[in-house]
Parts: sequence; C-alpha cells; structure tokens
Amino acid sequence: RSKEQGRNQVTMYHESMQKDNDKMLFVEQVLRNAVSHDNFILKYQPIVDSDRNVVCFESLIRIYNDQQTIYPDDFIPVAEDTDLIQQVGRWVISHACLKIMDCEYNISVNVSSKQFHQQGFIMYIGQMMKRFNIEAGKLVIELTEGVVVGNIKEIQYKFNRLKDMGVMIAIDDFGTGYSSLEYLRQLPIDYLKIDKSFVFDLGHDESSRVIIETIISMAQHLNLKTVAEGVETEEQFKVLKAIGCDLYQGYLFGKPGDLMSLQ
Ligand code: C2E
Ligand code: MG
Ligand code: MG
Ligand code: MG
Repeated sequence: RSKEQGRNQVTMYHESMQKDNDKMLFVEQVLRNAVSHDNFILKYQPIVDSDRNVVCFESLIRIYNDQQTIYPDDFIPVAEDTDLIQQVGRWVISHACLKIMDCEYNISVNVSSKQFHQQGFIMYIGQMMKRFNIEAGKLVIELTEGVVVGNIKEIQYKFNRLKDMGVMIAIDDFGTGYSSLEYLRQLPIDYLKIDKSFVFDLGHDESSRVIIETIISMAQHLNLKTVAEGVETEEQFKVLKAIGCDLYQGYLFGKPGDLMSLQ
C-alpha cells in the first residue's frame, strides 16, 4: 500500500521522486549487502490460544545494518522489485525450518506473492521439509490475498502440493486485499489472520466489531481457524474471545523476540 502511494507521488512531484528514489537505492544497497553478508535475523512472535498457551511463533525478518534495524515493510518491496526476493525468501524458509527442528513449536513464515509464484518455490519447500525432517503441521506459510489473484487452477495446484507435504496455509492480513471471496472455498486454507487494523479499532468503532464477527462466523462455516493480529489490550482480547476467535497474536502476549529466550 505505502509503495503504491509512493509511486503516485512520484508521478506528481519531482522532489519526492528524488527522495523516494534515494531511499530506494539506499535500501537496495543495504539489502544486497545483507544478502552477501548474511545480515538477516528472524524474530519470533508468539501466537496463543484463548488460555494464553503458545501454539505457534510467527517468524519476522529484520536486517541489522550498522547497529541499525531495518524492518521488512521497508525492504521486502525492494526485494520484490529486484531479483533479491528469492534469496531472501529462501534464507527465511531454511532458517525457520532449522528452528522448527530445535524447538517444539509450530512456526509460520511470510511468503510474498512474487516468491510464491516463482518457479521452483514449491520444490524448495519440499526439499527443506525433507532435509530438516519437518513433521506435518509444523510449518505454516502465510500468504496475503494478493497471492490468490490470477490463474486459479495453477494456484490450486500449488496449494494442494503444499498440503500434501504437510504444510499449513494461512491467509495474512485478511480483509484488506482486493481478491474475491470465492477462493476461500476453492483452496485448502487452514487459517485466516484478521488484519490488525480491525483489531485496533475494536472498542471505539462499532463497524470493526461487526466486520470481525462476520469474518469469524464465515470462517467457522468454512471450517477455517481464525487468528487475530495486533492484540494490544486486555479489552480487545476479551471482546475477541467473546466473539469466538481461535488464536491471538499481539504485543499483549509478546513482541517479536528471540525464541531461545522465550523458551
Ligand atoms: P505481517 O505478516 O502481517 O506481520 C505482523 C506485523 O505486525 C509485524 O510487523 C509485527 O511485528 C506487527 N505486530 C504484531 N503484533 C502487533 C501489535 O500488537 N501491535 C502492532 N502495532 N504491531 C504488531 P513487522 O515485523 O514489521 O513485519 C511487517 C510485515 O513485513 C509483515 O506483516 C509481513 O507482511 C512482512 N514480513 C515480515 N517478515 C517477512 C519475511 O520473512 N518474508 C516476507 N516476504 N515478508 C515478511
Ligand atoms: Mg504474517
Ligand atoms: Mg498480517
Ligand atoms: Mg502485514
């Protein structure tokens, strides 16, 4: 979204184009440097059930550059615009699989649309599952709705292959994309992750509550589990529990951190 906004400004103002372009070049340099020096790090954020038991950790990538942290919203779009997303994506998947091996938890990884559609993606997941001897159900792949736009047969085929390998599939940022809801009954999906923008507004915006209720009720009918993102307050947690959400993620339960220190 922010990338699109940036692009619109580019066509209008020369000055912001200059700034945008400079930032983009800087980020690309940092990214190339991170790829060649292995400067990435994965943080892990807990996902809990309604009794606050941890059931999964979401892995979230960062770059450490000159003692500065660079966040994925700043460099994943750049990685997607260059050829670097494949290397970044493979780094994430292999490190997450390694982590699954030496901890007891399920781990989810974010996979960007371009990465998902790249040739060899499914094969690479299969290789990692084998190499690290990953049990079925342990690896969760988070995809945004952007992934399911396009050739439905091809997407179906890929999703089915992932399911055959024992990979769980979550739709991330649910409710913010442009795709039709039809894919929900055409694809083997396990989780819907309700976007944090709806959760943030719980309590002061009645329509957000209605949207969340509707998503959860739809998910229950379709046999999908729901995960609420961005839960920051006890009040939000209480309301989400009352509505019947299955799983919860947010600063209330833990920020992205070092998995070893959380164990
Ligand atoms: P996402 O997958 O929706 O991840 C959730 C984001 O919300 C994370 O931001 C997380 O730190 C943040 N978050 C979690 N709980 C709370 C909360 O209670 N309040 C607030 N304000 N924020 C919360 P982060 O780590 O900056 O990641 C941003 C996005 O970057 C992710 O959104 C995901 O789309 C992307 N991303 C992260 N890691 C990877 C990766 O390894 N590969 C790819 N392709 N994308 C990634
Ligand atoms: Mg995610
Ligand atoms: Mg999300
Ligand atoms: Mg997001």
